[in-house]
Amino acid sequence: MASQAPVLILLGPPGAGKGTQARMLEEAFGLVQLSTGDLLRAAVAAGTEAGRAARAVMEAGQLVSDEIVLAILKDRMVQPDVARGVILDGFPRTDGQAAALDALLASAGQRITAAVSLEVDDEAMVGRVSGRYSCGTCGEGYHDQFKQPAQAGTCDKCGGTAMKRRADDTAETVRERLKAYHAQTAPLIAYYDGKGVLTRIDAMGPIAEVQDALAGIVGRVAA
Ligand code: ADP
Ligand code: ZN
Repeated sequence: MASQAPVLILLGPPGAGKGTQARMLEEAFGLVQLSTGDLLRAAVAAGTEAGRAARAVMEAGQLVSDEIVLAILKDRMVQPDVARGVILDGFPRTDGQAAALDALLASAGQRITAAVSLEVDDEAMVGRVSGRYSCGTCGEGYHDQFKQPAQAGTCDKCGGTAMKRRADDTAETVRERLKAYHAQTAPLIAYYDGKGVLTRIDAMGPIAEVQDALAGIVGRVAA
């Protein structure tokens, strides 16, 4: 019998590289990246009710309520492409979200395939996050020091020239986001370890090395 489509969770503080790595896994394994941060930013940009409620919370570096996040995530999970398998990036972030995810998967006869914790040093995250920007057209991520496009200002992936920076990627807000991560999200590492699905990887090295480590894990469970 065919096994279920993979459900992978990437855990790690802001700047750990969840989004960068999720995009690589998407391409390498044909999975769908599901980023609650991206979904929330889209809601803010669209000016929906959820987006209007989330905006100030996000700009302060705090977590948006489980109610709003779960509503947005559930809307996305019913899209047909999700059947290929998903990489959850930035979700779950609280006990309540983890429990809701378990219930959602159980109701579909599914379970979590693997959770990977990207382990990094907090202080380095402030530099990583405050130097980053992305392509406004395709979303490819770049960094002032660590990952410049081949031609300054032009996206390597799609040729777009509209680069953008997130409103919450300032040093001050990153410190708030790190606090929220340690208080509310880091406990989920032990939760998934207890379920026997957790792997920890060192995510302080070059992007390509982290990618190799992740591809090894995902290749075993999702190929
Ligand atoms: P990062 O991982 O770098 O902090 P994200 O794009 O994942 O970036 O999240 C940006 C912001 O969006 C968070 O600081 C938070 O306010 C909000 N957010 C994203 N995902 C969640 C979530 N699962 N629960 C609560 N808030 C979230
Ligand atoms: Zn691009």
